[in-house]
Amino acid sequence: MRPSVLFPLFADVIRLPGIGPRNQALYQRLCGDRVIDLLWHLPVGLVDRRARPRIAEINEGEIVTLNVVVDQHQPAAAQSKTQRVLVRDDSGFLTLVFFHARGDWLMRSLPVGEARLISGRVEMFQGRPQITHPDYILKPQDADQIPLLEPLYPLTQGLGQKQLRKALIGAMDAIPALPEWLDAALLDREGWPAWPVAIKTAHQPQTTDDLDPQSPNRRRLAFDELFAHQLALGLVRHRSRRQKGRALEANAADQQKILDALPWPLTGDQRRALDDILADLARPEAMLRLVQGDVGSGKTIIAFLAMAAAVGARVGGINDRAGLQAAMLAPTEILARQHLDALSPLAETAGLRLGFLSGRVKGRARADILAALERGEIDILIGTHALLTTDVQFHDLALVVVDEQHRFGVFQRLALAEKAGHAVDVLVMTATPIPRTLTLGLYGDMDVSRIVLKPPGRKPIDTRVISLDRLDAVVDGIGRAMRAGAQIYWVCPLVEESEKSDLAAAEDRHAHLQQIFGSKVGLVHGRMKAAEKDAVMADFKAGALAILVATTVIEVGVDVPNATIMVIEHAERFGLAQLHQLRGRVGRGAAASTCLLLRAADAGEVARTRLNIMRETEDGFVLAEEDLRLRGAGDVLGTRQSGLPDFRLADLEAHGDLMAMARDHARLVMTRDPELKGPRGAALRVLLYLFERDAAVKYLKSG
Ligand code: ADP
Ligand code: MG
Repeated sequence: MRPSVLFPLFADVIRLPGIGPRNQALYQRLCGDRVIDLLWHLPVGLVDRRARPRIAEINEGEIVTLNVVVDQHQPAAAQSKTQRVLVRDDSGFLTLVFFHARGDWLMRSLPVGEARLISGRVEMFQGRPQITHPDYILKPQDADQIPLLEPLYPLTQGLGQKQLRKALIGAMDAIPALPEWLDAALLDREGWPAWPVAIKTAHQPQTTDDLDPQSPNRRRLAFDELFAHQLALGLVRHRSRRQKGRALEANAADQQKILDALPWPLTGDQRRALDDILADLARPEAMLRLVQGDVGSGKTIIAFLAMAAAVGARVGGINDRAGLQAAMLAPTEILARQHLDALSPLAETAGLRLGFLSGRVKGRARADILAALERGEIDILIGTHALLTTDVQFHDLALVVVDEQHRFGVFQRLALAEKAGHAVDVLVMTATPIPRTLTLGLYGDMDVSRIVLKPPGRKPIDTRVISLDRLDAVVDGIGRAMRAGAQIYWVCPLVEESEKSDLAAAEDRHAHLQQIFGSKVGLVHGRMKAAEKDAVMADFKAGALAILVATTVIEVGVDVPNATIMVIEHAERFGLAQLHQLRGRVGRGAAASTCLLLRAADAGEVARTRLNIMRETEDGFVLAEEDLRLRGAGDVLGTRQSGLPDFRLADLEAHGDLMAMARDHARLVMTRDPELKGPRGAALRVLLYLFERDAAVKYLKSG
């Protein structure tokens, strides 16, 4: 239950003065329609009305507040809706311009001969100063009604700055007294204000410095948000640690036998990743480790060695194999089958029994697998999400490997553990080179092993940036390569944010290439049924298709060693990390590979610079960091599918350092007071609710 002190912040904006049912929808569209949503809607600029020059001293474009006397009204000429009012001070004249103003209102607001305070932006018209629709027209005695500094907010159609500011003043009045959830020492060291002060400073900036992401108020707000997030992840992790895990000690001789059977030694990075994993398995707590490595860096063999270690492990001093099992989860049928093919010979060497399960394994075959699994006659089950369904019962599941799936979060892991009845070790493998700050954001306290260097002997991919003007030449070149036996990926971009237009572009290109090259051109896209998609991919893999036109669905790790050319149309619309992943589809075999980045003829300078970085490096981590710097977090991962929460106050570029700090503080809380008891614990619960991390609170014993 949300603590009652927070009720005023989670009330509808409609409760605030000046907001009615009509504009509630506007707030909904702008930022959300609760008081807290308004408070999280921070200003992006500042209007400074402190300049009080005389008319003769003013400059074009300035925002000024003037003491004037109304001189005369100039009614609109026939057919014109423009009215002018001439005002003066002892230094000169200025014209106030109004469109469509009501004459009686003008007369009342600006009576001839009376003094007025006028505030607005100065324009020059035919050498004379004017202000169109002044922001403020007040009697001199009401001077205090002109705010000297006004925050500027992002708006939505139909909602003005004044209205929004008024609503925010109401929202700030609703802020209750809250307990401090941060350490006094931390606040002291960072020079951060208390939360209510920070939020008020953010909305009532006194200088443009107060708007800076690095200002104490903004950093405090960002930290709170990141801290709440890390705390939530920490609580989930803590709870899963409370679940009984098992110490799995790998059999060194078995491991060596597999290594001896490989035609090459592990690379240093592979060895280190494997050692990390074996150490995790040997601990009684559940493992949660992410192995990050580019496409082709050799993650599969590491996954296999990990599964072999778990399956062959001794548990609690028992010498014989304890009948443990491992499962490997792939996002699609075809990837799961690819793993099955890759692992089968290794499994044979190691004397391990493989099973396969996907949505397409049905009837008798499925029943047989399930029965064998339950009896412990399958050591390693490979498959799709189908193996997470409730009727799949393991004899004794010890390790789950999740491939290419960064959405698999900590919360799902708990579901797995519940299925097994005890904590299950989890290894996540991803080819998405996520920058460090984002890894923290996504996985919190997850341990990470990185495979940076690829196995020796890979040829660099020849990457070129070509204008779409030269499409015909590219198509000619593709034709020559095709006749020489090459296979080609042709990726069409996301057009706007819609699958539909996305698809249209790919379909057009498919038709175009088919016209030239005939039936050797295939098409695969996200709207196809999984089975259709897999069939096309299988045709391409088998060589029945020479060119595969695709939307970005091929991004995941389908392996076609003979494909040596990657064409990416409108490459400027992709992120670097995404381009890198697409490029990783080629360069997997012995032959040299090429990646052609086709850019719009009118692509801007920034886009071109970005694409040129692709020519300079094949290091996915470098590209990911660069992407984060150039485009921001949401775009790196694709906000919709990233699993990364939408932070409202923290900006992962500006506040990247705070993420690690938040993680450390969350850790500290987890060691000192993991159940959030005591007064500090109560304050931390308020923080979790404030940032709507309610789900995490239920993992407390007394949630
Ligand atoms: P990933 O899953 O990381 O994309 P894979 O595991 O599919 O990469 O490995 C890519 C290729 O590299 C495979 O053909 C694999 O046999 C090979 N490979 C893996 N490790 C090594 C190594 N240490 N030395 C040489 N080749 C390796
Ligand atoms: Mg792989």
